[in-house]
Amino acid sequence: MSDSVAIEPLVLDNISIVLINTTHPGNIGAAARAMKTMALSKLVLVEPLEFPSGKAHALASGADDLLTRARVVGSLEEAVADCHFVVGTSARVRGVSLPLVDPRACAGRILGEAGSGKIALVFGREDRGMTNEELQMCHLQVHVPTDPDFSSLNLGAAVQVMAYELRMAWLAITRGEVPLPSPRTHDLASQDDMERFYEHLYKTLVQIGFLDHSSHEKIMAKLRRMYGRIRPDRIELNILRGILSETGKFAESAGSSEEAQKQ
Ligand code: SAH
Repeated sequence: MSDSVAIEPLVLDNISIVLINTTHPGNIGAAARAMKTMALSKLVLVEPLEFPSGKAHALASGADDLLTRARVVGSLEEAVADCHFVVGTSARVRGVSLPLVDPRACAGRILGEAGSGKIALVFGREDRGMTNEELQMCHLQVHVPTDPDFSSLNLGAAVQVMAYELRMAWLAITRGEVPLPSPRTHDLASQDDMERFYEHLYKTLVQIGFLDHSSHEKIMAKLRRMYGRIRPDRIELNILRGILSETGKFAESAGSSEEAQKQ
């Protein structure tokens, strides 16, 4: 008799590996190979320099189906629009103090979330990684605890480390060693909903005079981090949008009555 737990393959299908602006097509192939060996299949490429490419196929070494089905998009925002959980990877620990985890802890978190919707695991450029703005779209930052004096893995190697940890976490669940996380019962807001909310929030905070041009970047980064921690569901986000709309209307009518008094 087997003690193994049936875990929907769908859980792994919910995980996308996103590569931003990859310069060397060979790294895209190496990433595809790393993914396929660990049963991951969704590859998303944000404006790759050269793709499709024979060099990618050469390094994919049999994982060509992942390259053929790879989704190519114009921005990270587009790549993660339908995701409710986004994880960024970084060779350096950044000033944007997102919650920081190692790959093992991260894999557990991702599988815990993957039963409830789509997840993106994002990798940066070979020369300069992810920008701070891109990391601000993430809920979590993962760092492979390399030697601080030589911390940067090759992109394909970084994908392999993460894919391996996801595989180990998945196997632990299928063997019944770790409980299968239950899916959420409420519908979390997608990253696209969140980005539209942040735009609305920014506009309203400028309108009421809370933000000015010198302070807005730091404050918006902190607000994004706070809402990323809270992770509102769709209904909660609609309530917040409603409050912003009413605040905007109130500020507008207060502004026009002040104008009328002056005349
Ligand atoms: N010079 C860049 C390194 C880019 S390496 C920098 O300092 O950020 C290309 C990508 O591989 C990184 O953006 C990241 O996604 C991944 N990567 C490399 N080393 C990593 C590490 N130690 N931990 C997590 N991700 C890493």
